[in-house]
Amino acid sequence: QKPVPSDIAISRSCVPKPIDRLAREVGLLSDEVELYGKTKAKVQLNIIKRLQAQPDGKYVVVTGITPTPLGEGKSTTTIGLVQALGAHMKLNVFACVRQPSQGPTFGIKGGAAGGGYSQVIPMEEFNLHLTGDIHAITAANNLVAAAIDARMFHEATQSDKALYNRLVPLSGGQRTFSPIQINRLKKLGIEKTDPSTLTEEEITRFARLDIEPSSVTWQRVLDTNDRFLRKITIGQSPTEKGHTREAQFDITVASEIMAVLALTSSLEDMRQRLAKMVVATSRSGEPITTEDLGVSGALTVLMRDAIKPNLMQTLEGNPVFVHAGPFANIAHGNSSILADKIALKLVGPEGFVVTEAGFGADIGMEKFFNIKCRYSGLRPHVVVLVATVRALKMHGGGPTVGLHEFRSNLELLEKGCSNMRKQIENAQHFGVPVVVAVNGFKTDTEAELDLVCSMAKAAGAFDAVRCSHWAEGGAGAVALGQAVQRASEAPSNFKFLYDLELPIADKIRIIGQKIYGADDIELLPEAQRKVELYTKQGFGNLPICMAKTHLSLSHEADKKGVPTGFVLPIRDIRASVGSGFLFPLVGTMPTIPGLPTRPCFYDIDLDPETEQVNGLF
Ligand code: ADP
Repeated sequence: QKPVPSDIAISRSCVPKPIDRLAREVGLLSDEVELYGKTKAKVQLNIIKRLQAQPDGKYVVVTGITPTPLGEGKSTTTIGLVQALGAHMKLNVFACVRQPSQGPTFGIKGGAAGGGYSQVIPMEEFNLHLTGDIHAITAANNLVAAAIDARMFHEATQSDKALYNRLVPLSGGQRTFSPIQINRLKKLGIEKTDPSTLTEEEITRFARLDIEPSSVTWQRVLDTNDRFLRKITIGQSPTEKGHTREAQFDITVASEIMAVLALTSSLEDMRQRLAKMVVATSRSGEPITTEDLGVSGALTVLMRDAIKPNLMQTLEGNPVFVHAGPFANIAHGNSSILADKIALKLVGPEGFVVTEAGFGADIGMEKFFNIKCRYSGLRPHVVVLVATVRALKMHGGGPTVGLHEFRSNLELLEKGCSNMRKQIENAQHFGVPVVVAVNGFKTDTEAELDLVCSMAKAAGAFDAVRCSHWAEGGAGAVALGQAVQRASEAPSNFKFLYDLELPIADKIRIIGQKIYGADDIELLPEAQRKVELYTKQGFGNLPICMAKTHLSLSHEADKKGVPTGFVLPIRDIRASVGSGFLFPLVGTMPTIPGLPTRPCFYDIDLDPETEQVNGLF
């Protein structure tokens, strides 16, 4: 077998077709496409209306077993499968993937464009900046942060009347409310549009948000692994008159605005979600929203281009939407609903859209079904569960690193297949057929690959196939493509795992017991307090987005295989009201990664002669 060159060498060796040509090939009209150079374009949302009557294609979600820290090849398989279905089986296809954060690209993990001969190209465009969506989120998120602290400062230093006079300034001898201020009045139950009719009491209620500083949950963000911003003190300049506060930065992809982008279904819906985001609580216990701060319209303006999906291509020239990339722990870790919806229309009823859900099936897939599908109304036809021999050996008791030293250890492998069995069962809870894709590495033996396939079938998978798309491109995933096509015709009986109307704790318990295998859950005091608060505030009917480690089915990353006999501790619960979910924290979740001693950026440089980027992987 020929050695496989580096990802960047493969990416660079392939000349992408002009993106306007690809756009025409997939049925986009020229005025629906906004070009960003030669290899990227944005697609306008009005296409949804044009294709309204077109039946959707088949919808496939790619997920995985509980992975090693290296990743088991979900992105690579998403792209490989699309190359197989498209370039080799001649079907209409689309891949829908997340836009990666730049943090890991320069930090530890590297890029996320797939790998080997199954990649999105050009990978330097994919991994860096793209069309600026993440930068737009950073700008929007930090506008909210600035608005919160400035508002608290102004309220602390001005009388009610002075505040009101500044919020509703005189113009031509008259005061008028802006539309956003009228919305706030309505929320306060004040049905007035003429400022001159407000009573003293109404002026105070209108002018003062009265934010309790310790209740602010909105953080500043940036797309860099800057660990020294995990805890900061803001307001230290004398101009802020001693109004200091402890705060923190998160990575941009952890911003609620990213989750809103991923879950929204239209510009109007995004405007509403951006208005509903709860940033703090008032001293009297009322939720304070971005609409209360008056900033929701401006956020929509900042996000108006980001809402359009980005068109790119695979190494074999198939279309890819790269759109949104919410964190997979404190958010739901799935690419955008809009990209999936547009792609399903574009491929038509015989075509396939392959979308990827982050982390293992216990997290990414569960959230794909219970959160993303609930909001999109879309129903998947097939689950592809990626498994690797190396990860299954780890689940059987092998080490997390240096796994290949355990070559051809069938005993370890068979034991570790328990994790795959459980993840197949997890997918079956939703009533969708499961195809296991055994992502082959060059160190795997025939006997090992065959064993995984037969164990998967015995566990109730619709089919299980070996694939070699990393080493061979789409040709190496044709068997997978055929299995997926067959599975897409099999009867599917989709159902959600829980009812939204159930109490918050019951919803968490169902996920904990059915998906993770916990005996029960334990709500620690802060979580209990939040259950009461959110129920009272009217957020009890939101779906649940568990923030749990992806390295184990349980809450302890080092418990491999299928842990049993544990109680899942829920430390706290937070609300992401604009995106539309509650996220229980199981343990502590880092929300901004750090840089290691030797970060990836050591290898990244630009060749000034050719203007080529070197060192990305
Ligand atoms: P995930 O999406 O599950 O995190 P990726 O598809 O990003 O995983 O793959 C993780 C890493 O493993 C990437 O660097 C990719 O190139 C590499 N990889 C994936 N499949 C194979 C394979 N079959 N052989 C060798 N390397 C692989």
